[in-house]
Amino acid sequence: MTDQPPAAPRGAPPHAESVPVSITRHGTVAVVHIDHAPVNALSRGVRQGLIDAVQSLDGDAAVSALVLSGGPGRFIAGADLREMALPPDEPFLPEVVGAIDACTKPVVAALDGAALGGGCEIALACDLRLGSAKALVGLTETRLGIIPGAGGTQRLVRLVGVAQAIALVCEGRVLKAGEALALGLLDAVVEGDLLTEAIARAPAAAKRRLSALPVPVGDPAEEAAAAAKALKGAKGVPAIAEAIRVITASKDGDFAAGLALERAAFLALRESPEAKALRHLFLAEREAVKVPGLEGAKARSVSSAAVIGAGTMGAGIAVALLDAGYPVILVERDDEAAQAGVARIDALYARQVKSNRIDEARKAERLARLLPASDYAALAQADLIVEAAFEDMGVKTDIFRRLDKVAKQGAVLATNTSYLDLDAIAAATARPQDVVGLHFFAPANVMKLLEVVKATRTAPDVLATALALAKKMGKQPVVAGNCDGFIGNRIYAVYRRHAEYLVEDGAAPEEVDAALEAFGFAMGIFAVSDMSGLDIAYAMRKRRAAARDPNERYVSIADTLVEAGRLGRKTNGGWYAYDADGNRSPDPAVTQIIAEARAAKGIQPRSFTQEQIQLRLLAVMANEGAKELAEGIALRPSDIDLAFVNGYGFPRLKGGPMHAADALGLPTILTEIKVAHATGGAGSEPAELLAQLAAEGRTFADWQKA
Ligand code: NAD
Repeated sequence: MTDQPPAAPRGAPPHAESVPVSITRHGTVAVVHIDHAPVNALSRGVRQGLIDAVQSLDGDAAVSALVLSGGPGRFIAGADLREMALPPDEPFLPEVVGAIDACTKPVVAALDGAALGGGCEIALACDLRLGSAKALVGLTETRLGIIPGAGGTQRLVRLVGVAQAIALVCEGRVLKAGEALALGLLDAVVEGDLLTEAIARAPAAAKRRLSALPVPVGDPAEEAAAAAKALKGAKGVPAIAEAIRVITASKDGDFAAGLALERAAFLALRESPEAKALRHLFLAEREAVKVPGLEGAKARSVSSAAVIGAGTMGAGIAVALLDAGYPVILVERDDEAAQAGVARIDALYARQVKSNRIDEARKAERLARLLPASDYAALAQADLIVEAAFEDMGVKTDIFRRLDKVAKQGAVLATNTSYLDLDAIAAATARPQDVVGLHFFAPANVMKLLEVVKATRTAPDVLATALALAKKMGKQPVVAGNCDGFIGNRIYAVYRRHAEYLVEDGAAPEEVDAALEAFGFAMGIFAVSDMSGLDIAYAMRKRRAAARDPNERYVSIADTLVEAGRLGRKTNGGWYAYDADGNRSPDPAVTQIIAEARAAKGIQPRSFTQEQIQLRLLAVMANEGAKELAEGIALRPSDIDLAFVNGYGFPRLKGGPMHAADALGLPTILTEIKVAHATGGAGSEPAELLAQLAAEGRTFADWQKA
């Protein structure tokens, strides 16, 4: 799998530097070299080159054996995902795999790197698989909502049996060299130079076609257990059930029939909305780190980090930084608060120990790198400082003014602010070019999204440093411009408002949540509000009351809930009631508050179907996203999708709000947003970009490509 652009069209003249497959001779052994940077994705050129090479060498009397090599550090990382969006272009992968399988001479695969997806299918068609310690092997297709389509399931099952094949394929597991050897996917792990060794062993290699082997007879109970486990973890991905069906069918013993069954399932899944969504997100992740203006910018070196404020977010951010290997200075207002911060971090690690994610030794090692302090002078050492104090402009500007005095020259000064104006924070320093937003999501050590917020004067190398940091922490960065709420919270605010309009107009909170959960969210928006606590948003609404557009419809139900002491789960009541075990249920007291709010405005409650609720909320998200695109707050629709999938629980199988809007059709979204505008007033106007795309019959994806 890769982000390679498609190969030159068929019939294009071969270009000397772009020949992706070449042959060298070593006595009677021929080495077929695959060289298609960066990861040897299976582009059309690679597929054709492999077929041509294998067939010509098979007919060459001077050749006794073949070696397939992807060069140092590589084999074949998988299909070419960008090509998958284009019309199919022959030869297809099954023909490549078929040519290798049909070769009358032994073919040795030399795996010095990733043999994933289609790359693994090619390796499985070879007669001998040698790996270096760097080899990675796996049929990872189900991660993208498809199954292997070139015999991968049928060959694997003959090697490892039904139960193991189901586990490997359904988890999309990537095996390191040692595990692959233990399971038989590699025949040997070689020390020393892999290619030299492969050439040395090739003449003695025997033909050993997996396609000709019987499927090992397994324990039916074990197979059923593997299938049940895989289905349980399927999370709605249709490819899982298909993989199980196709693998189990191999027990018939007819290889050709198994191949046909697998191919048909693959082709159908490839066109499924789920696979399209997962492919979209896979490509979106690679796109998100390409930021215009950063060409040539070099990340600053960061060897120590600091966090200011050790509350909910600061503690989580400190853990994320410790996990990434940094020493972390933790600054609080006084020693007592600093110690409380250490205790919070200790507790986060204790939970990880309890759930067996880390051991005591690792916990101790991480905590040993944590340096609590109450004196800002301690920050002089840090290359990167993340402020996570109270969400208050006065507090933040005061901190950044002090930072300007103590931080070393060139240190990156970051803030975790959720809503405040980044330029105003940067202006508190004499070095606004060093200031950037690093907007983590709670819990900061768990959530994948990191919004990297660019202020007007943020230097390119500071942005590059933030992206490099995200990578080191295993986060998904999305670059956002400076505005109220940045990419995510700005859209979320509109989404929440419209969820409340729906309630005031007649939907029960539990109906809105049920519609969202049916759409694929793990939890509906009102249940989420209860979990986070209603008081924070309440305080923000009060602070901003004066600035609110009088033409924006305002729903006061949430205010009434807070004023009645219903702050959410922490008070055993918010939008819902909670029992002693934390189970939620609708609360007549809330129904009463809602009824009174409707009556006060003279609203006759009407009913909404799940589809109406889903369409309304999707439309307002995509509409606000379109405004962000026009304003340059988000660089691309796919960045918005990544933010929602990784930070707000939007279902992955729907690909994010912009992708889902495209899939539904922008004219439908536009029609709905006009209704939403009539319902919500100011702040819900249809986005010009949305109207334009809908009129032109284009999608957000088309806009991104252009
Ligand atoms: P919190 O109240 O839990 O923690 C803030 C901490 O900062 C407290 O421990 C406080 O003692 C400390 N602090 C305050 N002033 C300080 C100063 N001058 N020097 C050192 N320490 C100081 O708040 P939180 O929820 O962790 O939020 C922190 C920041 O993160 C806010 O800007 C918030 O908007 C942002 N944020 C919060 C969330 C969330 O879900 N809670 C998510 C994303 C971003």
